[in-house]
Amino acid sequence: MKVAVVKESAPGERRVALVPETVPRLTQAGLEVLVEQGAGDGAWFSDSAYSEAGASIVKTDDLYATADVILMVTRPDEIQAGKLRAGQTVVGMLSPLIDPALAATLAGKHVTAVSLDGLPRTLSRAQGMDALTSQANVAGYKAVLLAATGYGRFFPLLITAAGTARPAKLLVLGTGVAGLQAIGTARRLGAQVSGYDVRPASKGEVESLGATFIQLTSAVSAAGEGGYARELTADERQAQQEELSAHIARHDVVITTAQVPGRRPPLLITEDAVKAMAAGSVIVDMGASPLGGNVAGSVPGETVVTENGVTILGAQNLPSTVPTAASNAYSRNISALLLHMVADGELKIDTGDEIQAGVVVAHAGQVVHPAVAKLLQPAPTEGDGDVDRPGN
Ligand code: NAD
Repeated sequence: MKVAVVKESAPGERRVALVPETVPRLTQAGLEVLVEQGAGDGAWFSDSAYSEAGASIVKTDDLYATADVILMVTRPDEIQAGKLRAGQTVVGMLSPLIDPALAATLAGKHVTAVSLDGLPRTLSRAQGMDALTSQANVAGYKAVLLAATGYGRFFPLLITAAGTARPAKLLVLGTGVAGLQAIGTARRLGAQVSGYDVRPASKGEVESLGATFIQLTSAVSAAGEGGYARELTADERQAQQEELSAHIARHDVVITTAQVPGRRPPLLITEDAVKAMAAGSVIVDMGASPLGGNVAGSVPGETVVTENGVTILGAQNLPSTVPTAASNAYSRNISALLLHMVADGELKIDTGDEIQAGVVVAHAGQVVHPAVAKLLQPAPTEGDGDVDRPGN
């Protein structure tokens, strides 16, 4: 079976789905590895490094003509999708809940679509395949570095001959994978760190990293299914925003990571809360999306400085800005998933398997993933607030 690694096509995407170090894992399992010319360039993996690891470097058209399985970080663009043919399998972060039409297109072409973002998160045997976690870790780390760069003071307490600098007070809102990594990174840089989340389980996790957990008096448990949060009701949201505002105003740096599956990212920092912050404060909105983010006024990929001197950094594809580390981790995830699905050198699709049931989106001409198939049914009436979960 020929497994091919493409050069990512999304603008600015620097990651690659498989790194040279992982190639032998696949070849030892009897798979042949093809790599599109220049696929690893953005993450500093040369064609010759892939060749030395046992892969063959191929031209784009040869790759699509001969590959059985195509590995990618994100998803095929229109040109790539056009080159795919019946019987091929594409594995990536296809965001089928954001773009169910792609799943339908692939199914229509009899291409099997496998999406790592559908992996069951809490299954311990699937942890090594969890690309949402590996990429969120990278993003949480980078968010802190961006915040530190945008902040006009030091993060740590510094005692020098020229005086003493107090440590920055940093708050992380939403302490899932990215938030906990942000807390750890900010602590290592010497900031005074607090964290807040709507899932009660996160209190212990925040405290175990040496940060202070902010307990709101209006707190309700918003633990939802599968370890995720549920959406707050309008009243709960208002109480949360009001109470959080006072905490936000006391911090120099705020990093927001809050997401709710299948919904818009919740608004945690209102315009009034931004106005109450001191000049020189920095916010990194990791929930920034075209649909709106966790912070009023954030724009994905842009830096906005408000009239009262608050810098709002709208995050956009942070993992791609740490391309080598992100690709290394993703490569381990995707190869673990692929090897899980291979028996006797061939891909064996079995949606009766708990892992495959989560990740196989299209197969044998059908969209087989129930949540994606549901989205492809006639549109619900407008205004029900249901939107897709942004990708990571
Ligand atoms: P996510 O990206 O869906 O959301 C980020 C965080 O935002 C979550 O902690 C969520 O509770 C929080 N949030 C949502 N609405 C909020 C609001 N209104 N105010 C404040 N915070 C809000 O989460 P994730 O990082 O993908 O993690 C989801 C869950 O999966 C977590 O419970 C995590 O521990 C769990 N997980 C488990 C494993 C495992 O067991 N192997 C692996 C990865 C993740």
